[in-house]
Amino acid sequence: MVKAVVGANWGDEGKGKITDMLGKEADIIVRFQGGANAGHTIINNYGKFALHTLPSGVFYDHTTSIIGNGVALNIPTLMHEIEEIVKQGVPMPKIKVSDRAQMVMSYHILFDKYEEERLGGKAFGSTKSGIAPFYSDKYAKIGFQVSELFDTEENLKKKAERICDTKNVLLEHLYHKPLLDPQKIYEELLGYKEMIAPYVCDTSAFLYDAIKEGKQILLEGQLGSLKDPDHGIYPMVTSSSTLAAYGAIGAGIPPYEIKQIITVCKAYSSAVGAGAFVSEILDTDAADELRRRGGDGGEYGATTGRPRRMGWFDCVASKYGCRLQGTTDVAFTVLDVLGYLDEIPVCVAYDVDGEITKDFPTTVRLERAKPVLKTLPGWKSDISGIKNYNDLPENCRNYIEFIEKEIGFPITMISNGPSRDDIIYR
Ligand code: GDP
Repeated sequence: MVKAVVGANWGDEGKGKITDMLGKEADIIVRFQGGANAGHTIINNYGKFALHTLPSGVFYDHTTSIIGNGVALNIPTLMHEIEEIVKQGVPMPKIKVSDRAQMVMSYHILFDKYEEERLGGKAFGSTKSGIAPFYSDKYAKIGFQVSELFDTEENLKKKAERICDTKNVLLEHLYHKPLLDPQKIYEELLGYKEMIAPYVCDTSAFLYDAIKEGKQILLEGQLGSLKDPDHGIYPMVTSSSTLAAYGAIGAGIPPYEIKQIITVCKAYSSAVGAGAFVSEILDTDAADELRRRGGDGGEYGATTGRPRRMGWFDCVASKYGCRLQGTTDVAFTVLDVLGYLDEIPVCVAYDVDGEITKDFPTTVRLERAKPVLKTLPGWKSDISGIKNYNDLPENCRNYIEFIEKEIGFPITMISNGPSRDDIIYR
């Protein structure tokens, strides 16, 4: 049985915690897209961890962690992450890396940085992890697949030369930066070969067998629906699909095997980087307070430490985000944080040039959208530690039920704290 854990919004919904929690029942956890540009924060009995490349299942000794073919594989980052968790007492995880995954090269990171510099004020707010240049090369068919590391020396050298020829034109004439040396790129590849060799696997075949054996498999998404390159707020999106459907491609499994799609929705909104964010809290003090209280230590990027932009819950974006994921269950997270508010605004519709809509518009119209807010009463109490739905304060249940009705997908899990056990099933 394959389940996916994905985000409904702009990312940072708390997918890491939900995956870590569901990991208890899983045999295999798979990362199927994205790279080291975003991170999950996980708090468990070993401590607090920021994971960027490893799936959130690495803390259990009964699970196998897979880096699927859809991932932007940064090998030094992966090695560093493994070292860090082992240093903190986590048993060495079982990790398999797809032989069809492609590698983020040092020059992808340079190009990401140079392009943001070139764009200046019009930059995308990239984390400069090389993700956009990486995926551009993948689809331009000039990327390096892990399997190529095991090709002949001659072929690998020739390809390194070919890539440098192309890249150096841009470095010289567009960016005015130092040129790449093919020998250095070749040596970089040899270094990666040595590091990754123990983990390389035909993960698609491994998963196919696991499905046949009835193993429990979790697909873990990065970011959320609104950052999807096709269905999100293009161009302020990420470079690989954030949708559960892509889990089939990025892991190499049949799409019909994904039986449960758990879409994680945070009880308020946050976003990073530029782009339309309709329910953004414009009052700086109110936004600062929610940011400070948010998550488990404030709403700051797990990878970059950047303060996140804060907003009220957006029913329009979340309904759309859940629909695109193919949601079977909503996990509603970080609800405990809202206990300080007297009343809680919720965005129930958009006003686009005077037209009221509940449908999420394309980017051009989204930029002009204004939020239609409805204010719900707060519950003014600390709900952490509560285990049963009916023990939640009435206004808190009303908040959940109101949102459930607006988004039209069942909220079956409510997370009321950062730990694995802080969960209420409905
Ligand atoms: P992800 O990328 O979707 O995994 O999300 P992040 O890890 O960036 O953000 C979620 C943050 O909220 C993390 O710091 C979690 O530890 C924390 N978190 C997750 N669920 C809850 C919750 O229910 N309550 C609180 N207070 N924090 C939570």
